[in-house]
Amino acid sequence: MGEIEETLLTEEQIRSKVCELAARITEDYADRAPLLLVGILKGAFIFLADLAREIGIPIEFDFMALSSYGSSTKTSGVVRIMKDLDVEIKGKHVLIVEDIVDTGLTLSYLQRNLAARGAASVEICALLNKRGRDKVDIPVKYEGFSIPNVFVVGYGLDHAERYRNLPYIAVLEK
Ligand code: 5GP
Repeated sequence: MGEIEETLLTEEQIRSKVCELAARITEDYADRAPLLLVGILKGAFIFLADLAREIGIPIEFDFMALSSYGSSTKTSGVVRIMKDLDVEIKGKHVLIVEDIVDTGLTLSYLQRNLAARGAASVEICALLNKRGRDKVDIPVKYEGFSIPNVFVVGYGLDHAERYRNLPYIAVLEK
């Protein structure tokens, strides 16, 4: 695995979806600001930066780093917190911003974890959601694109730390 096979989502498609999601978030949280965006490192950093700049209400930021994959591309099901939040979230409205939902294990764990810390609400915004996977049942309130079960890179997503800076999303050849 290693070379780009085809473009799955163009810059233009991503840009218009990001604007659409930001407009919904702005409306939904208008009377609950400030909203705390929790970006999941590293994959969500580009999506988060673009999304945040289109949101029209006051927002705060924090980041977490989680590990469930190790260096392979198969989900092990074990989620470890590599970097925790810097701020208290008790009473806050939290929106988790994630690059991609595969099995949903990572987000299912995280949503429960943040809710247990006393957040006023915890919702999920994910740019990509893979179809045809056995999933943990998690409600992704803000979903960008439903994509086939292929390994994708670009727009923050990597393969062995490469390709994160591609401005579009591509499929890697097997
Ligand atoms: P889940 O816990 O939902 O199975 O896995 C979610 C995490 O797996 C994502 O945050 C991402 O880091 C990684 N992941 C899942 N599918 C892909 C993919 O197609 N490409 C890349 N680069 N990472 C993926």
